[in-house]
Amino acid sequence: MRVATELSCKREVILFAYRTPNADELNVWREQDGRLSLYLRSSSEAVHFQVPQFGALETHLCVTWDSSSGATALFLDGRRSLTKIYKMGHRVQSGGRVILGQDLDSYWGSFEAKQSFVGEISDVNMWDSVLPDSTIQRMSSGNREPRGNVFEWEAIQFEIHGGATVLNREL
Ligand code: CA
Ligand code: CA
Repeated sequence: MRVATELSCKREVILFAYRTPNADELNVWREQDGRLSLYLRSSSEAVHFQVPQFGALETHLCVTWDSSSGATALFLDGRRSLTKIYKMGHRVQSGGRVILGQDLDSYWGSFEAKQSFVGEISDVNMWDSVLPDSTIQRMSSGNREPRGNVFEWEAIQFEIHGGATVLNREL
């Protein structure tokens, strides 16, 4: 995804939520202390990464997680983080919905204004396998790499809630 925000780190902010009826399956947060986190399956235990802060300039963010090894890494503008081991052998369940910039605590609702994202999110894609580093790097510099095979940004049918606006832009 591409993300730009001027929200300061005075509170936690959700960037991406995928929820099934029973659980938060896959969430990406920016924590109050500025770390980026991946949470799988409603766990209170996340994997955290200490990274430079987002600002008004767009940042390309990619989170990779490999179920078989648990290897988890972040890419910010194509730069790779260290790898951490998280939830080895876990499976992300199907049948849920994705919501950008808000956190569901039930299916479908229980939002808290103080967790909402303010800014711009775009070009969100998801794959069911880990992409090569070089593909992520090319994507971060604007190359039209293969789009997400779980979902791709251009094919998403948006449902708009609250103060969100969809803007069309040539990439
Ligand atoms: Ca919440
Ligand atoms: Ca939640």
